Amino acid sequence: MKFRKLFIPGPTEVREDVLERMAWPMIGHRGADFAEFFRGLTEKLKRFLNAKDYVFVSTSASTGVMEGAILNCVEKRCLNVTCGAFGERWHQITKACGREADILQSEEWGKANRVEEVDKALATGKYDAVTMQVNETSTGIMNDYYAFAEVMKKYPDVMFLVDAVSAMAAVDINVDELGMDVCLAGVQKAFAAPPGIAVFSVSEKAMEKSKRVARKGYYFDFEVFKKYFDKGQTPTTPAISQLYALDYKMDQIFEEGPENRYQRHVQMAEYARAWAKDRFDTFAEEGYQSVTLTTVRNSRAIAVADLVKFLEEKYSLELANGYGKLKEKTFRIGHMGDLTLDEVKDLLSRIDEYLGIKSG
Ligand SMILES: *Cc1c(COP(=O)(O)O)cnc(C)c1O
Repeated sequence: MKFRKLFIPGPTEVREDVLERMAWPMIGHRGADFAEFFRGLTEKLKRFLNAKDYVFVSTSASTGVMEGAILNCVEKRCLNVTCGAFGERWHQITKACGREADILQSEEWGKANRVEEVDKALATGKYDAVTMQVNETSTGIMNDYYAFAEVMKKYPDVMFLVDAVSAMAAVDINVDELGMDVCLAGVQKAFAAPPGIAVFSVSEKAMEKSKRVARKGYYFDFEVFKKYFDKGQTPTTPAISQLYALDYKMDQIFEEGPENRYQRHVQMAEYARAWAKDRFDTFAEEGYQSVTLTTVRNSRAIAVADLVKFLEEKYSLELANGYGKLKEKTFRIGHMGDLTLDEVKDLLSRIDEYLGIKSG
């Protein structure tokens, strides 16, 4: 196997010391040692997200928790606010869970969602839940989640279900202040931890709703998560090695300082965006460009697959082609997790080399 440095929007590079934590011995997940460890980890996560009610850890991909959020929080009808592939995934999940749903799309891929439209849709009174992405990884759009939160405050009975997969640990998400009922993320993106687990906050309001909802399925029942959480446990055998790594990663995040971490992401994004505008063009709408990835519009009509191959073969660097229908029309530079500005600069200078541009 050939290993490369990852500049893809997840999974992100995991530093060696974090990986080494996964080599710790196994412990029983029903024992006192585990409970002490797990309580420590969830306390760190609660503090990090300012989640006053619950933060759970699921052994699943983030998509599993998206499904869980729908199963526990949608009774009547869900409004799936989408601006790309992951928003469409929420809609597919909602339908697959047998719930009624409507999709509210942004004008097109590359454009952000407009909160006024969300407000208008919610004013009809048809919905008991809304789903959204903080950061739409297929297009590189970062929605104005503060503005969303303001609108949601007008509708306290509507569940606010948030996919923060490629945003959490890169931007400040204060779930309590923002009134998010479920906010979820896989740790393989901006946390820069090994994949396999997802973290999610659940508000007391969402927990109350979960008690009333029928057909919740089995694996993601929030009430069961709470029952075990109160004992310092998870409902089923967790990915213990990944938990060790995440716990260690949380200590590093606090050491770096969350604000410094967010600032580092802004710096990498600003640099990548300026580079993209100079060499190509950016794809995502101005004012809504992601801090965790830059989607470059392929205005030079290069063969993106060839560029990707060049970087892999010559420098062991991995870049992402466009997502789905945006393949070859765009490419994506992931700059999240533990990457540094210097590492991003290095990648971009290699792309310049491929383009025959002298970097300055
Ligand atoms: C990566 C990603 C997902 C899917 O995450 P999995 O852990 O693979 O399920 C969902 N939403 C967004 C915004 C993502 O970036």
